[in-house]
Formats: sequence, structure tokens, C-alpha cells
Amino acid sequence: MGSSSDTACTVATAPPSPTPTSPPPQLAATTTTVVLSPCAACKILRRRCVDRCVLAPYFPPTEPHKFTTAHRELPEEQRADAVSSMVYEANARIRDPVYGCAGAICQLQKQWHGAKEFNSKLNHVLN
Ligand SMILES: [Zn+2]
Repeated sequence: MGSSSDTACTVATAPPSPTPTSPPPQLAATTTTVVLSPCAACKILRRRCVDRCVLAPYFPPTEPHKFTTAHRELPEEQRADAVSSMVYEANARIRDPVYGCAGAICQLQKQWHGAKEFNSKLNHVLN
């Protein structure tokens, strides 16, 4: 048993995602021009790619493998969880722009370590 009271939390400090100063080029393009080809997501899902398709900036028609990989790797029964996770992370990022949900995880880890130490001391006193 480690008696480490060091509850330092190592958070991978990847730089926060860059805040876009301008919309992705394709999104800007779709606002003024007619999209001639559907985005990779709509093409693979065989649905109509509408003007301002939310997937188009991330899955351009020139890179179909991006969507194929993302679509294949996530089983259908886990997609609702994936969306919930993304929404949770987005909300956490609004509350804490630097650490997002990693900050909340760090806080919970500290609480858990504190509770573990308290439990250990309590057991020591009682036994
Ligand atoms: Zn689309």
C-alpha cells in the first residue's frame, strides 16, 4: 500500500483546441456557393447533403476515409453514448475552457484519494 499523500493529478495538458477565428473554408464556401458534391458523411450515409451541412467541414468529399473510419470504429449501440460524451465534454469546456472535463476528473481523483486516506486512518484508529 502506498502512503503517498501526493494527490497531484496529472492532466495531459494538450493545448486547448484553437479557437477558430474564421469559419472553416468549406463552411464559408457553402454559405455563398452551391455544393456540387455531397460531403463524405452524407455520401456514405446516402442522404442529401444540405447547404451548411454540419458534417461537411469535418468530412470533406475529398477525404472519404475520415468518415469511413469514424463510422466503422463506433458500433451503433455506442453512438448515443458517444454523443452524450461529446455534449458533456462540450459543456465542461464551457465551464472550464482550459481543462474541460479533465479538470472535473482531476477534482474527483483528489476527492477519491482524500477519502481513501481518511478511510485508511479510520481503519487504523478502529483496529
Ligand atoms: Zn453533408
